[in-house]
Formats: sequence, C-alpha cells, structure tokens
Amino acid sequence: MAGFFSYPIELLRGVGAARAKLLQTELRLFTYGDLVQYYPFRHLDRTQYYAIADLTDDLPHVQVRGIIRRKQLIGEGRAQRLSAVLVDAAGSELELVWFKGLKWVERQVRIDVEYIVFGKPSEFNGRFNIVHPELEDVAAQKASGTAALQPVYNTTEKLKNHHLDSKAIARLIAEVLPQIGPHVHETLPAAILERYALLPRSLALAQIHFPPSADALQRARFRLKFEELFYLQLKLLRQRGLRKVELAGQIFQKVPSVGEFYHHHLPFDLTGAQKRVVKEIHRDMSTGRQMNRLLQGDVGSGKTIVAFLTMLMAADNGAQACLMAPTEILADQHFTGLEPYARRMNRRIAKLTGSTRPAARRELHAALRSGELDFLVGTHALLEDGVQFKNLGLTIMDEQHRFGVQQRAKLWQKNPDVIPHVLVMTATPIPRTLAMTVYGDLDVSIIDELPAGRKPIATVHRYEEKRSQVYQFLREEIRKGRQAYIVYPLIEENEQLALKSLTEGYAQVQAVFPEFGVSMVHGQLSAFEKDEEMQRFISGKTQILVATTVIEVGVNVPNATMMIIENAERFGLSQLHQLRGRVGRGGEQSYCVLLTGYKLSKDGRTRLETMVRTTDGFEIADVDLKLRGPGDLTGTQQSGVLDLMIADIAKDGQLMAEARGAAQEILEADPELVSAENEPIQRQIEAQRRSGSLNWSRIS
Ligand code: ADP
Ligand code: MG
Repeated sequence: MAGFFSYPIELLRGVGAARAKLLQTELRLFTYGDLVQYYPFRHLDRTQYYAIADLTDDLPHVQVRGIIRRKQLIGEGRAQRLSAVLVDAAGSELELVWFKGLKWVERQVRIDVEYIVFGKPSEFNGRFNIVHPELEDVAAQKASGTAALQPVYNTTEKLKNHHLDSKAIARLIAEVLPQIGPHVHETLPAAILERYALLPRSLALAQIHFPPSADALQRARFRLKFEELFYLQLKLLRQRGLRKVELAGQIFQKVPSVGEFYHHHLPFDLTGAQKRVVKEIHRDMSTGRQMNRLLQGDVGSGKTIVAFLTMLMAADNGAQACLMAPTEILADQHFTGLEPYARRMNRRIAKLTGSTRPAARRELHAALRSGELDFLVGTHALLEDGVQFKNLGLTIMDEQHRFGVQQRAKLWQKNPDVIPHVLVMTATPIPRTLAMTVYGDLDVSIIDELPAGRKPIATVHRYEEKRSQVYQFLREEIRKGRQAYIVYPLIEENEQLALKSLTEGYAQVQAVFPEFGVSMVHGQLSAFEKDEEMQRFISGKTQILVATTVIEVGVNVPNATMMIIENAERFGLSQLHQLRGRVGRGGEQSYCVLLTGYKLSKDGRTRLETMVRTTDGFEIADVDLKLRGPGDLTGTQQSGVLDLMIADIAKDGQLMAEARGAAQEILEADPELVSAENEPIQRQIEAQRRSGSLNWSRIS
C-alpha cells in the first residue's frame, strides 16, 4: 500500500543514477511520493499576456508574447552577452538579454519564430528588457497541447544546467500522476469532506499540478492546505489532551473573596474582556486538572488585576500563589501595586529579589513554609532552592518570553504533591492563529479591550531635521506637568557603542533641557543603580528618562505622556509597539515620536507607517509576521508551523481556525479516534508514525 509512493525516482523514464542523485541533493526528492508532493509555487496562465507598451519597472514577473526579429552577440570573452529583440502584436519592442550559456541559448533562439517570454522586466534608458527570460516556442507548445495553467516548480541553477528545469520536473510528475489513483487513500473523514466541500485527495493531488481551470487550482490548494492544517492541529490538540489527563491540579471552586474584592475594593470596573478572562481562569481551576493558560493582553490592557484576582482564588482555597517578573523593576512595580490590595483583603504579601537581604530572606523563607505568607512577588530569585512553600497552588509568570522551559519546570517542582496551576502573561501580541499553533498545548485567553477612557496614542514619524521642533513640543508637555521617555537603540553587536550613543544622547538632553531633571538607565547599571534611577523618575523627581530598551517591559508611569524613539528604524515592530505602550497609561493624551534619518529600507518604512497608522497590537503583530515570517517569533521552532508544505501561517489564519475547529469536534466526539468514520485519520496517523518523518503530511 505504501509501496508505490516509496518507489525511487530512478524508476522514471529519463532519470538515471546521475540525475536522481541531483534531484536528491538539490531538492530532496527521493521517491514518487516526494515528487507528487513537490507542489508548484505558481502557475503560468497562458491566457494572460502583457503588451510591451504596458510594462512598468515595478512589475514582479510578466508574460509577453511576440516574435523574435533580431539577435546579436555583443562584446568579447567573459563580458560577452546575447541580445535579442522581441516584437509584440502592437509592434512594441522588448530586449531579451543573456549573459550565461550563450552557445546553447543562441541555438534555441530563432528569428521570426513566435515565443512566450516570462521574466522580470526592468527599464534601461527608457527601454524595457528582461534578463535571462524563460522562453517558450508557441508552436511547440500548441503541439504538445499543454493546459492553459502550466505549473512552475522551484529548481536550481545546477539542476537547470543538467536540463532539469521546471518543465522537466513537470514531465516527471506528469508521468507519476496517472498511476496514483489506486494508491492514494483519503485522509479525511467523509463528513469533513462534505462540510467543507473538499476535493477528494487523489483529485487534489492531480489538480494542484495540472489544474483544468483557475477555480480547480483554487480548490485543490484549499483541500491540501486544509488537510495539512487539520493534522497539525490534531497533533497539538492531542498532545494537550494527553497532558491534561495526566496532571491533576488543586480545585479552587469556592472563591468568596474574589466577589468581595470586586464589589468593595476595586477602584474601577473590569472591562468585559477582563471579566471573561477571569471566568475562564476560574473555570479551569475548578476542574481538578492542572491549568496551563496563556493570558495575552496588549500593554495597558490590565493583566495585573486579573493576576491578583487569580491569586485570591488560590488563597480562598488555602493555597499560596507567586508572581514572577523578568526584572527587578517590574517585580517592584507589581509588589507596590498589589500590596495595598492584599492588605485590604487581609492577605500577607512579600517581595523576593536578588537584592533582598539575608535576614529578610530567612524570615521570608520561614513564613512561606509555615503558610503565613499568602503571596510572593519577585524575580527569578523565586526559583532558588531555599524557597519552599507550604502549599503552592498557583504560579503566574509575567512576560513569559523571558523565561525558559527549564525555569517553568523548576516552578512546578515547588509543590511536590500537586503541580501548581500556571498562568503565563504576555503583552507580546502573537496573532491569534499563530498563538493557536505555537501555544497549541496551552489554553489561550485574550484581553482584547482596553479600559474605557484611554485616548489612543498619537504617533508621528519625524526626520532628524525636525529635532528642535520635537524638543520644543516635549518642553511644552513637561511644562504641563507631564514626563517623557527618550529611547535609544540597543546596538547588540556592540554594547560599548550603544552605551556611547546613549551617554551622548543623555548629555545632549541635559544641555537642551537644563531646567528639567534627567534620569538615565541602561543594561550596564547594577540592579540597585537601575532601581534608584527608575525610582527618581517614577516619583517625579526627574521629568525625562533617557534609556535603552530596558524600559520595554511592563513599566507603569501613568504621568509619562510622551516618548521619543531615536533611530526608530533600528527597532523591530513588536519592540516599537512594546515601547510605545509605556505611554498612554493615564487619562491624558499621549504622544510617540519616531525619529529617523532619511535613509530607510523598504521594511523599515513599512514598520514606521504601521506604527503611525495603528495602535492595535494584533494588527501590528500581523504585519510583523508578514515582514519577518513566523521563524523569528518565539516558539515557532518547536511548533511545527515551519514544516508546513503548502499552508502559510501568515496568510491562512482563517483556514487554520476552521481546521482547528474541525479537529476539536472530532476529538470531543471520539477522543481515541476509534470510530469507523475516523478510520482515515487513524490510518494517516499510523502512516505518519511509521514513516517517522518530521514532516507530518508527507505521504508514506
Ligand atoms: P498590563 O496589561 O500592561 O500589565 P496593567 O495591569 O499594568 O496593564 O494596567 C495598566 C493600568 O490600567 C493600571 O494602572 C491599572 O490599574 C489600570 N486598569 C486595569 N484595568 C482597568 C480597568 N478595567 N479600568 C480602568 N483602569 C484599569
Ligand atoms: Mg503588566
């Protein structure tokens, strides 16, 4: 059954040992199965031609039809090139140029013959040319009766030199396809095929290569993408399912003090999104299974109060809770914010960081063990072996991307009897669809609503020459009693240089604003120095904080209404967004100025434009994903999204959600996948397991 698709490609006509070797090393094509799943990256539409007169410089690739009227070898030796002139039906001329393989091309290109030419046009001295175009003889093509949509495959220079171009690959695939019928097994249950109107697998495999129409191509792609995403989601959901069954958690069912705090002590009303998330968390922690939940919320969306309500749930049920932050400043801020709340609820809270004195530490350790202490807030110092709890029931991690898996595991071990519930909070807005995949083994809650009354931050992009106006604006803001951040880029390759640019900036700011107090923080200060300097700013002793990105995460100074980002083009989008989130935290209008020089890359420009256009973290994350691809985002490496063959995580979000829904439904009805309808799924999983392939959807 698996046999046919594992036939080696040497069995194909015209593939000897040498070519087989090339296809293996260059494209990793070993078997018939590999070939069938070597999908074309686009199709040539034989019905769409450009008139030469309509060409522009910014077209990616065009198809032009015309007759070659002249050709000529120009120059000598290595500088020699072949130039041919193609004339279309309207009589316009297009130059075709070759620098390599001249002898061979010279023989191919015949005068007064009609060709279809494909390539990227560029303009030179007001005339258009295409360098190394693909060339096809119209008559030959008609004779071979090629379909209107012709597949184009990725290939390499080396393969082309051995006449294994896209067309040769198409011929190999065309030889295999007619035989696959009896060997292809449907991998999706009939009900799913029907509900999503999916093509049968064998038809989809044939038509993704040689579609009879654009619509058929669309449907073939849809079917294969769906299948790929379905199996990805099924895998992730099953992993999660397995873990859930295995791990028991404490039951935090009754939570009287949550209601009390909410009704009598909370100075504001929760947003709808906060309420929903609190319910989701409570539901999780009442089941008897260990919670593993990711809480995503844009900067300023109010995650901290959700964390506190969750801690109260633990306390109500006789368990302790800890909140871990990635930096001392953040731990401080959480402690300062939560301490009055805890006091009002008669709960004891303490802080533990690297700078906690030994005496205080000893006392704290004892109070944790005896259970007198309900809540502990701190940095990674919480992970130290000396920190033992009476009954740790909940661990919350703020800005989880700073913590590794090992650190998570260490926190788990703080309760030897029952693994504590875990809530991971992040302000890095990962697009929903990606979160679903990357954190497929976590449940995800999203706070997608900002507290009422927030004014969107006004963001502008200014060139260097406007610096003095920007400074003037900043001066006026501070005179109104506000504060400001000025951020300098971190130059990763060269910390000394980064510090130099920061200290120069600091000196400049001091000189420009002699009337204001200026603080400076950067990564080279000790935790103590950094804290002291931050405190001067937080308490309002200084009005301007000059900093590197150390202020990126979580810092909350509602009175700061302005931020200037120097060399903004050097920052990534998500970083810019994180930084900007430091302002706009109070009721006043806030501003963010992105300062740059004139020289900007295309992506750099897109990043700046995006920041100016929107403050929606999810929209920004989507643009970021499109610019950078999923490879750069936290966690994608392990998630399998990079192994996708046909679906595109950045573009197929909607389909991913559908596929996940379908997978979820099936697992709910038939968790072990043993029913007759789900036989195709079982067989596919079995096949994948047998093949042991990293790539899930590879035919085996
Ligand atoms: P983040 O999600 O970035 O951690 P915080 O928890 O620091 O956000 O909240 C930002 C600010 O908004 C805090 O000053 C907090 O007290 C306030 N806040 C949180 N929730 C609400 C709400 N529902 N209404 C008004 N203000 C809120
Ligand atoms: Mg926060």
